[in-house]
Amino acid sequence: MSQTWLITHPSCLEHDTGPGHPESAQRLRAILRALEADEFAGLERREAAPATREQIERVHDADYVAATLDAIPAEGRRSLDGDTVVSAGSGEAALHAAGAGCQAVDAVLAGEARRVFCAVRPPGHHAEPAQAMGFCLFNNIAVAAAHARAAHGLQRVAVVDFDVHHGNGTQTMLAGRDGFMYASTHQRPLFPGTGRRQDNRENALYNIPLIEGCDSELFREHFHNEIISAIMRFEPDILLVSAGFDAHGLDPLAGLELCEADFHWATEELTSVADYTCGGRLVSMLEGGYHLDALASSTAAHVAALLGLRYDACTRAEPVA
Ligand SMILES: [Zn+2]
Repeated sequence: MSQTWLITHPSCLEHDTGPGHPESAQRLRAILRALEADEFAGLERREAAPATREQIERVHDADYVAATLDAIPAEGRRSLDGDTVVSAGSGEAALHAAGAGCQAVDAVLAGEARRVFCAVRPPGHHAEPAQAMGFCLFNNIAVAAAHARAAHGLQRVAVVDFDVHHGNGTQTMLAGRDGFMYASTHQRPLFPGTGRRQDNRENALYNIPLIEGCDSELFREHFHNEIISAIMRFEPDILLVSAGFDAHGLDPLAGLELCEADFHWATEELTSVADYTCGGRLVSMLEGGYHLDALASSTAAHVAALLGLRYDACTRAEPVA
């Protein structure tokens, strides 16, 4: 059984961040349109269930969860921090985004799915235990990771994050806790400023900072030699992925030079190591990616690899590696 699921929810399109905000509903629309192509006919499509308070409060303070949902305006928009905006639909969107990951973990552990991609927003990896940050309300991937341990009793849960930004919130929530590993490639220096290599600890935290201009060859070298090797040593029971596509060369918020073929390659590396270490159990959740066309084609490359498909389309030069 090699079923690949796509989990999303219409409410994720109703989180309205306002005109000109890079984290817009257009992002998810572009992705879902790309995944309507014939090559994705093999995807099993499911609607996300909302997360329960209990699921979210495994990684967030209960007071923060209540205050965030209370802060959702009945109409108009409100800023929770400098760049994190909520509208009337944001509460339902955030609950379904977090719930998608738990549902994906449940499906994979029930053997109903082998790999799942959650096309959801708002993204999550910057959200701290008691603070919204960087477009993120609830830390979707950390909620899913905690769910895998708490609801299914897994001993070791690995989270790999290839978003161009460091997942400060995920590191805070998971890196010090027994049974979790967090590994991230990210541009540094760049928002949010965390993700130093000197913080790394064996079998717990692998920060792999990349300098501006980093290309396919250098990315692949670091990803294979450090991230994949770390997963091999950790031997997880499930592999979770924070899939951001803002390391693409066209992305307006960062300065790495990756292309669609790199995301396809990285995804194949992740499915291979999941096949080897944890029976193929892999759950991926959308994080960033702000150039609409590059986001759509990069996500398509990622999902194609989850389906075991080749993906030849690449808008940039073929990588040397
Ligand atoms: Zn990002």
